[in-house]
Amino acid sequence: MKFGSQKNPLTQVNNQNQEKKQDKNNGNKKLATSEIIQKYREAGEIAKGAKELARKVTKPGVKVMEVCEKIEEYIKLKGGLPAFPVNVSINSIAAHYSAYIADNLIIPKNSVVKVDLGVHIDGFIVDTAITIYFSKKYDDLVKASKAALDAVINNIKPGIKLSLIGEIAEKTITDFGFRPIKNLFGHQIKRYNLHAGLSIPSTKDKSWYDSKKKIEAGKIYAIEPFATTGVRGLIDDGPDVSIFRFIATPQGSGVIINKAKNYLLKTGILPFSPRWLAEDINSVKEAKNIMKDLKILENRGIVYGYHTLVDVDEGVISQHEHTIRTTKTGVEVLT
Ligand code: MN
Ligand code: MN
Repeated sequence: MKFGSQKNPLTQVNNQNQEKKQDKNNGNKKLATSEIIQKYREAGEIAKGAKELARKVTKPGVKVMEVCEKIEEYIKLKGGLPAFPVNVSINSIAAHYSAYIADNLIIPKNSVVKVDLGVHIDGFIVDTAITIYFSKKYDDLVKASKAALDAVINNIKPGIKLSLIGEIAEKTITDFGFRPIKNLFGHQIKRYNLHAGLSIPSTKDKSWYDSKKKIEAGKIYAIEPFATTGVRGLIDDGPDVSIFRFIATPQGSGVIINKAKNYLLKTGILPFSPRWLAEDINSVKEAKNIMKDLKILENRGIVYGYHTLVDVDEGVISQHEHTIRTTKTGVEVLT
């Protein structure tokens, strides 16, 4: 069993207490199921618009910063909040790159760009991704993850085993001549918890997951197959850390703790970008100071830093993701 090596995009760590606290902060107001579904649908509509915008703004020569900022701005303008910083992950990077403060990175020519975005309304999160690419060479690679997502969604329903989902995704991707990423998983979503409970595979290789587990009715799941040109279909941590999350409440006082309290007020408990803490997102000085603060808070176990996830064979990766709601008999695609 290799469960220890499973990677879920933006997995949350130690957040059960925070989840309870968040529920308390919401005044224990019990929402009706229909109200909750409505909020998911609204978040889904905003996410659809955000993806359309992503297709317009993501182009070679454009700064990654501009893509992230425009999409996050759009989400807020439409009445949602970003559930995590917009991920703009290029070529061999599968996930978890978002623009830093003062980031000058530019979308390269001929690249394959995964834009992965999350929207929440009152903590009800949808998570969705598309691949935008700039070379005909990658037509099939991009089709492979899209076809795998569609095939899984066409077959998924309550009671279906994870192993069958894994088989469907893997077969679709290998039929195009590529490999699924075995150690990246879709996931269940709960309120204010992007990754909760079940991990959903894109491989038939059962050494990576509990193949007896099943999809249940009345849940929210993100399905996200990744296809790679890499030989092994595996990712590992890369060098960049541009997305963070509070995993403990800062206690006591002192300069850094007081800063942390202010940061937490600005970010909340979902994953955040250092950009969201800056007065001026183009300030090199602020970039240095804020990254230094986050490093200290990471060392103290208050903040968690997410590494980029990179193909171990430097394969080029495509990804497509939808959030779905399971009903008693089938699914509703929210994004
Ligand atoms: Mn995602
Ligand atoms: Mn996801």
